[in-house]
Amino acid sequence: MFNWQDGQPFSRRFSDIYFSNDSGLEEKRHVFLQGNQLAERFTSLSNGECFAIGETGFGSGLNFLCTWQLFDEVAPSNSSLDFFSVEKFPLDENELADVLALWPLLRQYADELLARWRRRIPGWNRWSFAAGKIRLTLVIGDVADALTEISGGIDAWFLDGFSPARNPEMWTQTVFDSIVRVSWPDASFATYTCAGRVRRGLQQAGFQVRKSPGFGHKREMLQGYLPGSPPVRAKVTKAIVIGGGVAGCAVASSLAMRGVSVTLIESAPALAAAASGNPRGILHIRLSAGMDSFQRFLLASYGHALALLDEKLPIDGIARVECGELQLAFSGREAKRIDRLAQLDWPSHVLRRVDAAEASRLAGIELVHGGLWFPAGGWLVPPQMCAALAAHSAIVQRTGYCVESLAAVESGWRVEGKDKRQQPWSDEAQVVVVCTGYQVKSFTPLSHLPLMPVRGQITLLPATPYSENLRAIVSASGYLAPSAGELHVLGATHDFNDEAVDLRAADHAENLSKLADISPTLAKSMNIDSLNVEQLKGRASVRASVPGAMPLVGELLPGLYTSLGHGTRGLITAGLSGELVAAMACGQLSPLPFKVVNALAPVPKIVG
Ligand code: SAM
Repeated sequence: MFNWQDGQPFSRRFSDIYFSNDSGLEEKRHVFLQGNQLAERFTSLSNGECFAIGETGFGSGLNFLCTWQLFDEVAPSNSSLDFFSVEKFPLDENELADVLALWPLLRQYADELLARWRRRIPGWNRWSFAAGKIRLTLVIGDVADALTEISGGIDAWFLDGFSPARNPEMWTQTVFDSIVRVSWPDASFATYTCAGRVRRGLQQAGFQVRKSPGFGHKREMLQGYLPGSPPVRAKVTKAIVIGGGVAGCAVASSLAMRGVSVTLIESAPALAAAASGNPRGILHIRLSAGMDSFQRFLLASYGHALALLDEKLPIDGIARVECGELQLAFSGREAKRIDRLAQLDWPSHVLRRVDAAEASRLAGIELVHGGLWFPAGGWLVPPQMCAALAAHSAIVQRTGYCVESLAAVESGWRVEGKDKRQQPWSDEAQVVVVCTGYQVKSFTPLSHLPLMPVRGQITLLPATPYSENLRAIVSASGYLAPSAGELHVLGATHDFNDEAVDLRAADHAENLSKLADISPTLAKSMNIDSLNVEQLKGRASVRASVPGAMPLVGELLPGLYTSLGHGTRGLITAGLSGELVAAMACGQLSPLPFKVVNALAPVPKIVG
């Protein structure tokens, strides 16, 4: 992507430098930080307030890192920073590491960015740093597309494309107009260029523009602001989250990281008692080539989940394993899906196509089909994920508490029910988030939501000497995970409108019947015909599903939110859904494009 020229990165594609040869860091600070008066504006943030920066051209992330450093130094401890940036040609991991090694003073920040970088996916990425104080929304895509997809809320802009002569698509009137559309009144911008076309374009879009002294040998730069008064932003101090599965724990975590006091309510005696209670769950996304809102949501959720888990449940070989996942082209339909998907331009750290020989090598067992290899696929222990998300000093856990009704009150929402001793109990908060899976019928404002129970049973299959060779998760009509404690997890059944959680021999038999699609050699070596299905161990639980599969995430009524209907994908989708709900409740930058946000939105009941 770039060459080194005089010890500095130089873009071959654009024949331009990423930063000034004089001193990249000082130039960035002069142009973008001082050009937007960030030291003063960060210092004067009030408690709990959030500041949002938009950038065109993430490049090496140098702007992001020096902004983070400044925020660390001068902003009040409980304020937060949203940094939105877009990059069409991301550096690879080695390139980024090499460029950032130029700035030893930023090392601690650069290391954090590099740790997240391997989780990047095409489209919208949302990563949090410094225990949630810094949020980065990085869109890997074209600037013009990305800017039409934000819903708003930027306080200051860094216009940092390559020079307008070499990179004109970063400096179009459409880009300038989008920037103004998604800015707060009184938002500022700064850029190193003084090109007349840029100045006139920004003026035409609505900015008051002025020239100011540039950095180093550059005589002038541009800065400016939008006329208008700063908006008054609502502050949320307390929230109640109902449901202690992965969806509820993720919402609670995202709210707590924003300084909101959260009461997390779960009717069972412990968190993760229902659908999030399996001994192991796999990180699996089934993508298709038509990138509709659902696919975009899945992909963004996948990247987010991996980064979130790195933060909260690091890979340790016990609670979380990153062994990779193979999705096999075991049927004509799957082969077609995989063919179409593999034709898109995927970075190989996300997925790549493999033939049967390579698939067999990766899996450690003999496979007759090739398919897709997801190197970051893996498994984890869902109750430990829930515990890790809920372990925050701002979260009070109320297990054994049962919510029976929800009602709007002047200050927000009132929940009523029974405490763990079956005594009447109630609580109120500005924000209530319902994450109870399919059990919403008793809550009047939510009783119309189209949630369906789906029973799923997994089988714990004793390992054999041959199956112990399995090194990756392999998915076909079912999935099989490598053994842990001499047991494989084999899953899973799907029975719509069945709420029973008894363990069924017939369901074990159904799971076993799917082994042959995974690997006939493996199925044979496990003697599945002679296994006594009555004696196999496993677990059945009930997930909530929505017709069309898109979960119901967002604001249903003012102050009342949902994160529901994650089906079998909760380990992937709960985290980003938690971010979305928390960002909406706190009036902050969305982690997803607004089209996707609209597609996720729960629709209120039509009255009358
Ligand atoms: N802000 C960066 C930093 O701190 O390292 C430097 C940005 S560099 C000057 C400009 C960046 O814009 C490059 O990384 C380039 O790949 C990106 N870019 C160019 N055209 C683009 C487009 N159409 N959409 C999005 N990004 C683009």
